[in-house]
Amino acid sequence: MMQLDVGSMAISCSFLATLVASILFAARRSYEPDIHASLTIWATALLFVVISSAPFVWSLAASLPVIVIGNSSLVAGYTGFAMALRRFMARPLPLAVYVLPLLAVVVGTIFFSTIVPSYSLRVALVIVFLLALQATLVRPIFHSLRRGGEVGQRVVALSFLASIVALVARLAWEWRPAAPSLSWLAGIDVVGLHMLLIWMTPVVASIGFLLMCNERLMRATRHLAETDALTGIYGRRAILEQSEFALASARGNGLPMSVLMIDADHFKLVNDHHGHEAGDAVLVELVRRLRNALRSDDVIGRVGGEEFLALLPGTDGRSALEIADRLLNAVRVTPIDHEVLSVSMTLSIGVAAFAGRDANLDALIRRADAALYAAKDAGRDRAVLAP
Ligand code: GH3
Ligand code: MG
Ligand code: MG
Repeated sequence: MMQLDVGSMAISCSFLATLVASILFAARRSYEPDIHASLTIWATALLFVVISSAPFVWSLAASLPVIVIGNSSLVAGYTGFAMALRRFMARPLPLAVYVLPLLAVVVGTIFFSTIVPSYSLRVALVIVFLLALQATLVRPIFHSLRRGGEVGQRVVALSFLASIVALVARLAWEWRPAAPSLSWLAGIDVVGLHMLLIWMTPVVASIGFLLMCNERLMRATRHLAETDALTGIYGRRAILEQSEFALASARGNGLPMSVLMIDADHFKLVNDHHGHEAGDAVLVELVRRLRNALRSDDVIGRVGGEEFLALLPGTDGRSALEIADRLLNAVRVTPIDHEVLSVSMTLSIGVAAFAGRDANLDALIRRADAALYAAKDAGRDRAVLAP
């Protein structure tokens, strides 16, 4: 039946792994320092796995140095994967957690080669440490296997889980009873299959790890694109996008929805009297108060210099007006302190509740804008509900 040629497998896998390691080394420069460092560790680990396959590539005789280098570089490689992933997840472990298993494998391999020579015990030794390392690897990303997990984390988790299953099977095989009931397995090259998995897992997991790096980069970039740098809330484009979503879902489920157009009163005076920097600080505090006064489902974004748009899902005009009053109060009651200054601020708010006749978001926002102007005209520091 199936007989795998370990030498050819070692050559193909180590060639592939070396290529993938080079790609990871080259890909590093697209990433910020933390990811860069994790990729360096991961790619180096991959090279250790390549070293561990060298005795099979070169058909070296199983002398003591060859066995020690083979076993320890395999464990070093998996140690590296665990280190890289832990570092990436910002959950590093103490160095001893990595160094001690490696030392134990070196000492144990020498012991089971010279003092108590046993192939099975050497295999068991390496497998036990590989199992522990892979458990360390999978733990922080195991949750990704639930619904909605990241693809990259899933690839890494599944690769190593498959490898864990294979290692346990190999352990069982190594210590199997010499029972005739297992004879159906005799034609299958268990050891060969196991080697294939040991060598292929890191290659597949590397693709997952690179995906993880990419996912993180994309998330960071998206966050930058969506967020207003000064206040940390959504910027103009993002809040308008959120509004489109909210409007579509309000339409879909027939629930009410309102928007508030919020503008700071006489803000130009703050800049004129106290300088732009003080103006910035006042804006930051203003936003903090607005967020505190809003409910958890409400969303707020900065649409202009001192102008904000708040979305109130599931809220009709009357309730929206109450919320607007709450916001007015949150700003009016205590002056905003900045260094030695104390700045009294007020807001004007235009409130518009979504109605069937609003053809689209623009129409709704136009009504809120008109209400805001009405509030300004009526003397500021108030909220007006659009008709
Ligand atoms: P009104 O009550 O009519 O809204 O008066 P206002 O002075 O607030 O209105 P106007 O729109 O004329 O001025 C807004 C000012 O907000 C102008 C600008 O100096 C200031 N501003 C806009 N963006 C920023 C910002 O990011 N930082 C600071 N410090 N000031 C800003
Ligand atoms: Mg203003
Ligand atoms: Mg304005």
